[in-house]
Amino acid sequence: MNKLIIFSAPSGSGKSTIINYLMKQGLDLAFSVSCTSRAPRGQEQNGVEYYFITPEEFRQRIANDEFLEYEEVYTDKFYGTLKSEVERLSKAGHIVVFDVDVNGGMDIKQYYGERALSVFIQPPSVEELRRRLENRGTDAPEVIEKRIARAAYELSQAENFDCIIVNDNLEAAQKEALQVITDFLNT
Ligand code: ADP
Ligand code: 5GP
Repeated sequence: MNKLIIFSAPSGSGKSTIINYLMKQGLDLAFSVSCTSRAPRGQEQNGVEYYFITPEEFRQRIANDEFLEYEEVYTDKFYGTLKSEVERLSKAGHIVVFDVDVNGGMDIKQYYGERALSVFIQPPSVEELRRRLENRGTDAPEVIEKRIARAAYELSQAENFDCIIVNDNLEAAQKEALQVITDFLNT
């Protein structure tokens, strides 16, 4: 049975950066591309970071029971994991990697139990989170505020994950993440 690895964190913690690093380490990891109703930002491409769909199509897919889990992470901004995506990657024998919010992460962990490792990426502080979102330069100030407003709740859920990695020094966090998942895959 293939294993699954879940990453959750407040927006701006460095989750995507760490996942991108892990994907290049020669492990048989496959990224579960989620659906979202938010607009693409920066260089994002449909089918790579997300399947970008309209809120109407999102609701239709909810009605069709196509999601393993989904969340309205920010008002009117839906994100969800497609059952078909996880099945496709699992059937091919890959280790499936999820980048999901804390609620989605806990749902997926509960669903797969010991088959899944849930990892929480923690920023050094909320001030640093804000700095990273501002430096990333992909979100309008009001979008950054919404993300910061949700961070306190997300940070309060860290203890519900199998492990917590503090992303202060990026290189150290990447090495720690690689070690943690290598250990998980070898047991
Ligand atoms: P997330 O996917 O969690 O929203 P990103 O991976 O997009 O976060 O990272 C947010 C921003 O912070 C990016 O510009 C990234 O380059 C930067 N970043 C990531 N890790 C660190 C770190 N340890 N120190 C400083 N900046 C970082
Ligand atoms: P972003 O807009 O920064 O790409 O993502 C915002 C938040 O939505 C992040 O915490 C990200 O992990 C989460 N997210 C992305 N895809 C999914 C998904 O399929 N389900 C859930 N529950 N959250 C998701």
